[in-house]
Amino acid sequence: MHDTLIEDLIDAEVVRKDFPLLAREVHGRPIVYLDSAATSLQPRAVLAAMEQYYETTHANVHRGVYATAEEATNRYEAARVLAGRFIGAPDPAREIVFTKNTTESLNLVAHSWGRTNLRAGDAVLLTEMEHHANLVPWLQLADERGIELRYLPVDGDGRLDLSDLDRLVDGVKLVGVSAMSNVLGTINPLARISEAAHAAGAVVVADGAQSVPHLPVDVAALGVDFLAFSAHKMLGPTGIGVLWGRADLLDAMPPFLGGGGMILDVRLDRFLPADSPQRFEAGTPPIAEAIGLAAAIDYLQAVGMDRIRAHEQRLTRYALDALADRLGPDCRVFGPPAGDDRGGVLSLAFRDVHAHDLAQVLDHLTENAIRHTAAGGTVTLSATRALGEARLQVADNGRGVPFHVQAHIFDRFSGEERGGPGLGLALVKALVELHGGWVALESEPGAGAAFTCHLPEAGQTPEARPELF
Ligand code: PLP
Repeated sequence: MHDTLIEDLIDAEVVRKDFPLLAREVHGRPIVYLDSAATSLQPRAVLAAMEQYYETTHANVHRGVYATAEEATNRYEAARVLAGRFIGAPDPAREIVFTKNTTESLNLVAHSWGRTNLRAGDAVLLTEMEHHANLVPWLQLADERGIELRYLPVDGDGRLDLSDLDRLVDGVKLVGVSAMSNVLGTINPLARISEAAHAAGAVVVADGAQSVPHLPVDVAALGVDFLAFSAHKMLGPTGIGVLWGRADLLDAMPPFLGGGGMILDVRLDRFLPADSPQRFEAGTPPIAEAIGLAAAIDYLQAVGMDRIRAHEQRLTRYALDALADRLGPDCRVFGPPAGDDRGGVLSLAFRDVHAHDLAQVLDHLTENAIRHTAAGGTVTLSATRALGEARLQVADNGRGVPFHVQAHIFDRFSGEERGGPGLGLALVKALVELHGGWVALESEPGAGAAFTCHLPEAGQTPEARPELF
């Protein structure tokens, strides 16, 4: 792992230093953040851009004529153009709508395009791997309008099964598809799906929440008509999302929300909506967040989206190989094997351990992988991390009850002992979580890397030996 990172196109150690949150410790050890699919961390440049905006420029946009109001408006509109260029939008100033997040972007399409264009009996084609954000709005519309929902199935490898695409897309008015699955990591063949959809007369709305942050995305090459994504998954702040839509489609869509900023003219008995994108941005928009998003895009582009994709492909391959190598059939990884249609999202199941328990154990270990084997009366559990390896042995007391545990933490490269009771303690907790039962620990403060742990003998309860608990 270490060697791979050093040789990599991206120097991960250098990039890590840009992210202040990675400097903190959790459970006494450096944080290992593996939840970027839910939300990514922000580099200092994004935080600084937003702080600088609040300190020097903050004003409302599109309404004041004083200097800071004009500056704020210019910066907000510049962020729009940058966001559009980032995904290859032909006319960013008209086609990029700022929303709250991907969910709101997709709801905008369902509410505005959907309510205008879909009638009872019309069909919408989704896939079985859609995030709730690209499923529930269509279910709501199906309830309200009586539209038919069809689904492209997922095959055993976690890919979309397109064998029946032509039949399923026939007569459909809209196709909704995730560009990269947030569960399986599958990168879907959007160009092929768009081609079939357009041949059937349907428009395509793509959910780019996972793809836009991790690979080069070009809406023209994908052939989609709408693309939704969120800043907070691409190193930007929460509170701002993007909807890109083809200008002719946006121009024909009614406003989603009503209020200030989205009107050209208003009387007591009628209003005239502004053109896109203002038409879809009622009320004060996320101004500082747009500036943060622009800084995030600048950061991603400075690293390079091609390099990010290449780096992630290597990491994904490494992770899949390492999991298979170390855990074998105990660990089931969902989604396609490493390759061109696989992103870095990784979902796995470990034996029959509940996902919640496994996540808690991993949180305590701060590890990427955990190995656990049980043979006869001895249980061995070892965990690996980037630089260290921990071994924990549980001896059997002859009656099937393990009673003595020792943990040693070794530096895999120097062979030196390191770490301390903290990690050992976490390992024991992991062991207990995996086996059920209860455990008592004895650990001298500053006892170094080794510590002793007594597991209760059969029949003993916390009440009987309170000093152990
Ligand atoms: N679509 C996909 C594929 C996602 O992964 C997510 C979030 O995890 C969403 C949509 C929703 O994004 P948000 O919560 O930013 O609206």
